Amino acid sequence: MKENYQVIIVGGGSAGVMVAAQLKKKNLQLDVAIIDGATEHFFRPSWPFVSAGITKLENSRKNMADVIPDGVAWIKKYVSSFVPEKNQVVTEDGAKYKYNFLVVCPGIKIDPELIEGLTDAMDKGVVCSNYTKPEHALEVLQNFQGGTALFTQPATLIKCSGAPQKTMYLAEDLFKKTGVREQTKIVYAIPGDRVFGVERIRERLMQVIDRKDINVRFFHKLVKVDGDKKIAWYKITKKWKDGLYPIKKDEKTVLDSDIQYNYKDVEVSEKDGLFGIHFDMMYLAPPQSAPDFIRDSPLSNEHGWVAVDQNTLQHLAYENIFSLGDVAFLPTAKTYSAITKQVPVVVNNILRLINASGLPEGRYNGYSCCQIATGYGKMIWAEFDYSLKFTPNPFLRTHLLIRDSSKEHWRLWLLKRYIMPYYYWNKALKGGDIWK
Ligand SMILES: Cc1cc2nc3c(=O)[nH]c(=O)nc-3n(C[C@H](O)[C@H](O)[C@H](O)COP(=O)(O)OP(=O)(O)OC[C@H]3O[C@@H](n4cnc5c(N)ncnc54)[C@H](O)[C@@H]3O)c2cc1C
Repeated sequence: MKENYQVIIVGGGSAGVMVAAQLKKKNLQLDVAIIDGATEHFFRPSWPFVSAGITKLENSRKNMADVIPDGVAWIKKYVSSFVPEKNQVVTEDGAKYKYNFLVVCPGIKIDPELIEGLTDAMDKGVVCSNYTKPEHALEVLQNFQGGTALFTQPATLIKCSGAPQKTMYLAEDLFKKTGVREQTKIVYAIPGDRVFGVERIRERLMQVIDRKDINVRFFHKLVKVDGDKKIAWYKITKKWKDGLYPIKKDEKTVLDSDIQYNYKDVEVSEKDGLFGIHFDMMYLAPPQSAPDFIRDSPLSNEHGWVAVDQNTLQHLAYENIFSLGDVAFLPTAKTYSAITKQVPVVVNNILRLINASGLPEGRYNGYSCCQIATGYGKMIWAEFDYSLKFTPNPFLRTHLLIRDSSKEHWRLWLLKRYIMPYYYWNKALKGGDIWK
């Protein structure tokens, strides 16, 4: 195995393979290596469909060996540290690899340790997540016999922040299919004050929440999970208004409507200033953080993520290092869709630097998209950029004749269910640029 490469890519996930493929497509001579110890590669945007019984996990998985682009070396190891002054990365076995350019994209760390009790409770019994075990999540949703169905997410950054919601909307349809919807109270407990950061999309989703009769509990920060007793403990981060209360104590209680929307009287305990929601099943997006080897490296900022310029994706301190995907510190949603716009920027900038064409060009505007399933056959296409304004893609209007993609549409469902995965495996991973 060689020890010197023109370009080394750390992480062979969506971002890493797409960068490698586009680089090779544009310059066949380029000497590129991907370092990644994983033997499998996943297309995770399909996982909410797996937990809803719509597709199989198998369809979202390929062997890593089969997705590494032709002509790209695969170093089957994990990176443990970086020595940017020497243009070196060090792998877990102590081997050192030298690069002219480095692309850092090892994704995000699923970090259940950040919530007390979660490591023990997670992916067992009725506590499930399609971030970790989508097939177990399907089992839990299918076997649910009614009662309180709690859907929740942590206060940390997470990838695809729309995923918990779409799982909940699909589950509500599934509960109708399995005949338990009538006996079920659905609670969506979230740390923030709104269900989505883009106002137009938020409005649409609140209509879905009304239609599906879901109780949303805002300002709920998950701090502890008791898997045995089936209680999720929350700190309510907003002081409720005088005379109001966040849960019903008796018939006279007036609820704080900033905290409770469409209240459902589910069993709740209070202890040490925390509110515990008793559940019969719990779905959650687990807390997430920057991978430890990134957090401990000279490439990270004070939050642990890779410090990059938000438009060029070039490292703020090392001009031959770029980062993208979930690990990059960018004020936008961490999605595969964002990566489709980030990859061409990184590729063009590296090629410009290789050709000594001056400062990198190509500007990433924060584009991201959460495709939010709102039921079987229904989908919202939530596209936005750094401004957090709804910025619909003209392609949807011109080619799919969808005038307003913030509204639920079955053609958007087909696009997500069939065309997106097809495009991913057959075009994106082979160097195609969706935007061209
Ligand atoms: C349930 C769910 C639903 C989602 N839905 C959508 C959606 O609808 N639309 C959308 O656009 N996005 C969605 N996403 C988000 C999308 O999947 C991610 O944003 C995307 O996969 C991130 O790609 P990445 O390349 O940054 O990281 P990953 O794809 O996670 O790849 C990281 C790679 O780095 C490797 N790695 C880790 N550590 C090291 C190391 N030390 N050394 C070397 N390699 C390492 C890993 O093995 C892995 O192969 C969803 C995600 C989930 C979990």
